Amino acid sequence: MKYIDEFRDPAKARKLVDEIHKLAATIQRDTPLQLMEFCGGHTHTLFKYGIEAMLPANIEMVHGPGCPVCVLPMARVDDCVAIAEQPGVIFTTFGDAMRVPGTRKSLLQAKADGCDVRMVYSPMDALALARKHPDREVVFFALGFETTMPSTALTLLQAHREGLKNFSLFCNHITTPATMRAILTDPDLRLDGFLAPGHVSMVIGAQPYDFVTRDYHKPLVITGFEPLDILQALWMLVKQIAEGRCEVENQYARIVPQAGNAAGLKAIAEVYETREHSEFRGLGNIGDAGIQIRAAYAAYDAEKKFHLQAAASAHDPEHLKCADVLRGVMKPWECPAFGKECNPQTPLGALMVSPEGSCAAYYAYGKLAKRSA
Ligand code: SF4
Repeated sequence: MKYIDEFRDPAKARKLVDEIHKLAATIQRDTPLQLMEFCGGHTHTLFKYGIEAMLPANIEMVHGPGCPVCVLPMARVDDCVAIAEQPGVIFTTFGDAMRVPGTRKSLLQAKADGCDVRMVYSPMDALALARKHPDREVVFFALGFETTMPSTALTLLQAHREGLKNFSLFCNHITTPATMRAILTDPDLRLDGFLAPGHVSMVIGAQPYDFVTRDYHKPLVITGFEPLDILQALWMLVKQIAEGRCEVENQYARIVPQAGNAAGLKAIAEVYETREHSEFRGLGNIGDAGIQIRAAYAAYDAEKKFHLQAAASAHDPEHLKCADVLRGVMKPWECPAFGKECNPQTPLGALMVSPEGSCAAYYAYGKLAKRSA
C-alpha cells in the first residue's frame, strides 16, 4: 500500500538495525543506554514489529507515560461518572476512556447502571448530539495531549459561534513538555535520550523540546510511527550519543513542521490555559501540565457548569504497580497482577485498558515475562 509499505521495507530495516549495532558498539559504558519512547503508540510499534528484540544488548527501551488515558487519575474518572449521573446528561467520550476504572465504577459500568454514556469518534459528533437534543446537556470528555487539543478547542469555538447553550467540555487535556520535565526530574529514572511523539509535535513543533537538551542535556528525536520511522530515529539518537552531541532532531519532517501547526496553536491559545497544578496517575502533581478552559468560555466548561467538587485523590491498591510501570521504573511483567487478574478482558489499571498502554502492548505481543522480553 503506497505511503505505508515504504516505511515497512524489511531490507531497509535490516540496514538500519546493522547501523544501530555498529554505532552502539562504539559507546563504552558499564550500563545499557536507557532510551525512552514517550508515546504509547511508539511502544506498540516497537513490539508489533519486534524492534526491541533486534536492538543491541546495550540499548534498553524505557516505556514512557505518553498515553493520556493511562495518566488519568482515578479521581477524574469519578468526576466523569458524577457528571454522567446528573439527570438529563448525555456524556460522550472516546471508547478507550469508557473502561478506565474509577474508585466506584468506570463509565462503562455507569452506562450499564442506566447513565446515558455514548462513545463518539470526534468532539464534533458530540456537538451534533447537542444540536439534536436541545433539551439535554451534552458533555464531551476532552482528553489527550496536544494532538487532540485543536479539535476540542475548535469544537468549543463552533458551539460558541452557534450559541449552543447545552454543550460543554470536561477538560482533561495535558501537555507533553511539562510531563517530560517531570520525568527528567524523577530521581528513579536515569535516561539517556528521548523519542518524542510525532503526532503531538505536528501540533506544537520542535521548539518546545529545547529545554530537554538545554537544561537536562538529553538528546531527543521527534519520531513517526512506522517501523522504519522508529528505527531511523533510534539510529539518529544513538548517533548523537556516540558523537557526544545533544540536539533536538526531527525524523518526522514529512509531517512535523518546525514551528508546529499555526491554526491549531491559535485555537489552543484562544480556548485553553495551563492549570497551576494537576494530578497525574503515577506521576503525582505536575505544575503547568494540566489544561483548563479560559474564563471567557466558562459557559462551555463542564467543571463550572456542574459545580464539580473535585473528587478526592485516590491511588491504585498497593499491590498494583501501575505507577511504577507508568514512570518506566518497572516492566509490566513485574506487576504481580499482570496477565493474571489484570488482563484486557478484566483490566485493573488504565495501562491495560488503553490501546496505547504499555501493559496492553506487552500482553498483546506476548511479552509476558523477562525471558521473552
Ligand atoms: S498489569 Fe494491570 S495492575 Fe499491573 S501495572 Fe499493568 S495495568 Fe496496572
